[in-house]
Amino acid sequence: MKIIAGNWKMNGTKENLIKMIHDLSELSTENKIILCVPFTMLDTDSGKISIGAQDVSQHAHGAYTGEVSAKMIADTGAKYVIVGHSECRQYHGDTNDTVRKKSAQALANGLTPIICVGETMDEKQAGKTMEIIESGVRESVPTDASADNIIIAYEPRWAIGAGLTPTREEIATAHTLIAKTLTEMGLDGAPVLYGASVKGSNAADIMSVTNVNGVLVGGASLKSDDFIPIITSVK
Ligand code: PEP
Repeated sequence: MKIIAGNWKMNGTKENLIKMIHDLSELSTENKIILCVPFTMLDTDSGKISIGAQDVSQHAHGAYTGEVSAKMIADTGAKYVIVGHSECRQYHGDTNDTVRKKSAQALANGLTPIICVGETMDEKQAGKTMEIIESGVRESVPTDASADNIIIAYEPRWAIGAGLTPTREEIATAHTLIAKTLTEMGLDGAPVLYGASVKGSNAADIMSVTNVNGVLVGGASLKSDDFIPIITSVK
């Protein structure tokens, strides 16, 4: 069983989501499917498809205009939330510290955080990939996490939405480091997803790499014609 998570970013409408859920409901698959959608769609009836948000406040409640708390997300029936996505790190200034606080809020409210880590092109070129990944995991995961209530997503930031993918060896090296780091943190077995430019034509290959437990999919999760081949590419 692999985890196939979609990240709709700021795209789509409720009507689009209802159509996607309908299309996916006809699939026979053992894979776990999660759709992380805009806040306005979180309460959509989704059958066997799990719904997640794409960000959460680091605060429990209060005077934080425009923010949405973990309790509010849980109140919609959603079960997951992406935390520390590269776009939130880039545009909203999220740091590992912020991501850990947001993830702690998620856990405290029964949500599973999908915690994203990954290097920028500058960090890659400076030879810092492994350092950024390891510190990302160590500093972004809250101390009260357990292996069955968090998901890590390795997303090389330079490859997201760019049509670029690392080599199998690069993915294996990153995922092996994450698995080792999680083990050292007492989180052996927490799932680790790969994300960045996943599509039907490369999904099976990526998911066959050692320590890759599934994928986080951006652009190719928006239309069922693109998303279904990813889901059905592996058992
Ligand atoms: C993402 O934004 O999490 C992502 C993986 O995007 P894409 O698949 O479009 O590269």
